[in-house]
Amino acid sequence: MTLIDHSFAAPADAHPAPPPPAAPVPPDLPYPPPVPTEEERALLLDAFHEVATDPDQTFVLGRRTAELEQRLRGRARVADVIACGSGTGGLILALRALGAGPGDEVVVPAFGAEPLASSVLAVGATPVFADVEPDTMVLDVADTERRITPRTRAIVPAHTFQSVADMPALAALAARRGVALLEDAAVAMGASLHGRPAGSWGDLGLYSFFPVKPFGMAGEGAVVLSDDPGLSRTLRLLRDHGQDGELPGLYREPGIESRFDEVQAAYQLARLDTLDGRLARRKIVVDHYDAALSPLRAHGLVVPDQGPDISPCLYVYAVQTEQRDRLAAHLAARGIGTRVYYPLPLNRLPQFAPYAEHAPALPGADLASDRHLALPLHQHMTLAQAWRVTDAIRSFFA
Ligand SMILES: *Cc1c(COP(=O)(O)O)cnc(C)c1O
Repeated sequence: MTLIDHSFAAPADAHPAPPPPAAPVPPDLPYPPPVPTEEERALLLDAFHEVATDPDQTFVLGRRTAELEQRLRGRARVADVIACGSGTGGLILALRALGAGPGDEVVVPAFGAEPLASSVLAVGATPVFADVEPDTMVLDVADTERRITPRTRAIVPAHTFQSVADMPALAALAARRGVALLEDAAVAMGASLHGRPAGSWGDLGLYSFFPVKPFGMAGEGAVVLSDDPGLSRTLRLLRDHGQDGELPGLYREPGIESRFDEVQAAYQLARLDTLDGRLARRKIVVDHYDAALSPLRAHGLVVPDQGPDISPCLYVYAVQTEQRDRLAAHLAARGIGTRVYYPLPLNRLPQFAPYAEHAPALPGADLASDRHLALPLHQHMTLAQAWRVTDAIRSFFA
């Protein structure tokens, strides 16, 4: 048997074979942001050296972590900041602190990061998927209200890409229906609504420092934001095996292990003053994308418009179009990388099917999954590169 089947070979007099397709252009404007700069690498090595040679020899939850918590309190304008091992760990800690457990329901957006649902399962509660608004891709407030039952313990809106969830409306809803509000601001450091920082609107909030997030670092970590001393105390107990900080070795409740690393704390402290500059550089690109792409709304391109008095997330810039895959190919042919983050909404993932029977099809989440396309955005991008992206998108719709 031959390996190549010639039975479908064209006869000799057929049209000449088309030229082989052009080799793909390697993206010179790749989607993933570049690795840490030399300057950041130097800061990281300094942080390792500092912690490794400190006579204190405390490698987790030491004085640097405490200082980072304290400095972030002022930035987020909350009473307390509790550092933990990851954003996912922070969601689990927060759900536990809010009392979510077996028999409880937690309403989460159907379109978004997987830990929104898996963290609910991790505490033994049931995720209930609510739809998102198709254009902004964040939680639809009216649909969220429809999902609330007597068993609902909490609702967990998440800021997504550049869109911020409608926190004033969700806070009012949570108060009216007597459920807790956990604001997943994992990607939203630097965003605000009506002058109030994203992350500070709920009973608890969360920022992640996973490498790709706006204040991403060289490892895993996150912080939970709290204004309630009781919740803060529970979070501190839970993150360290339920251990009482005052009386180490006294375990007050079944805990979790989700602690913060001192090397990463030293690194984040060394970079904290540069955060606003990094965000401002991302904002320049976002403002250009908004201005250059808004006219393409007439061609069906969705460019989120958050309305007045909102500072958007500076995490990921995603447009939406029915021609998403063709647009991605058009950009790839021009050396511009793009990314589809969530090709399926959470309610359509097989592992969550048992919890999605109430919501077999959520039209907003389906549209977001089918249409979104993230464009390059990072703090090292130049305005000239941003123009290249928008010129290429304009040529697609021309
Ligand atoms: C990244 C992310 C998380 C999880 O954070 P990790 O630090 O990666 O565990 C949770 N929620 C949202 C919305 C995220 O984007």
